[in-house]
Amino acid sequence: MTYGPARALPGDQIRITTNPDTEPFWQAAKEGRLTACQCGDCGHFRMPPTAICPECGSRAKNWPTLPGTATVFSFAICNKNPKNGEDYVYVPVVVDLDGAPGTRLNANVSGCDAEDVHIGMKVSVDWTPIQDGWVLPNFKA
Ligand SMILES: [Zn+2]
Repeated sequence: MTYGPARALPGDQIRITTNPDTEPFWQAAKEGRLTACQCGDCGHFRMPPTAICPECGSRAKNWPTLPGTATVFSFAICNKNPKNGEDYVYVPVVVDLDGAPGTRLNANVSGCDAEDVHIGMKVSVDWTPIQDGWVLPNFKA
């Protein structure tokens, strides 16, 4: 089946909430910087961010700047806008983040036809402005 170009979901339809554990991730995104929560003591990465490191119990956190590249771990092809049901081709993905072993992020991929997205595909971060001045990390082929 041919779907055609994959698009990010419209940013004006996306709203996020933050908390003290996740806000540094979103502030970095506003600066165009992809990051992941890393334990400040043992170096273990964890996404989503949590208050306490599951490996060592530390509350210390680092937010290193990652390369902004990733590898598609899984994906789906969708052809309806989830908000209003209109025809809209997009590809939700789970990606493994380069530079932060063991971390994965949910996002959308664009910049190629939907049917060309595949597991193992290399992608790079692509920022989508969303509601309330936040910026969402998506990925492009
Ligand atoms: Zn730790």
